[in-house]
Amino acid sequence: MKHPSETIQRSLVLLKPDALNRGLVGEILTRFEKVGLKISGLKMVWSSEETAKKHYTQDLADRRGEQVRQLMVDMLMSGPIIAIALEGVEAVEVVRKMVGGTEPKTAAPGTIRGDFAHVSFKHADAKQAGVFNLIHASGNPEEAETEIDVWFDENEVHAFEPEYIKRTII
Ligand code: ADP
Repeated sequence: MKHPSETIQRSLVLLKPDALNRGLVGEILTRFEKVGLKISGLKMVWSSEETAKKHYTQDLADRRGEQVRQLMVDMLMSGPIIAIALEGVEAVEVVRKMVGGTEPKTAAPGTIRGDFAHVSFKHADAKQAGVFNLIHASGNPEEAETEIDVWFDENEVHAFEPEYIKRTII
């Protein structure tokens, strides 16, 4: 799918199984709505291995190691998740800011990971587990478009203009 414009971007967010297990779906969605981002697509999915591997690509193995990639693929398939396509002004960066750093221990307070989780890389390594940090958010606009295509069919991402968008984006 194409970028809507230079400054209006889409970002792909996944609420991972730990977010659903903790009952944090509404809480997290509310934050994105309150900042004025538009929900363009939203669905609950129980991922197949094929889809999980399309999402967590070789790039993750190159950056974090093959074991981390496998842990994350298994984690993503361990229960249903919520996929969300968000749209707004420079949405990729805004969403990453709201999500916070990868490691909850050091993620800033006020961010989703900083407010609702606290585990560390050290703890995850000792347990040979993934860092459960509730949420995924695209790293850049190109990755966002690729990831939206992984989780959504074209007719599941909607072009519309809800009233609140007119009040939050000039
Ligand atoms: P982010 O999700 O912040 O963009 P990455 O793409 O680098 O971070 O990693 C993907 C996911 O893999 C992270 O969100 C986290 O859940 C998990 N992860 C990253 N590094 C580790 C690690 N060293 N040990 C366990 N899990 C990790």
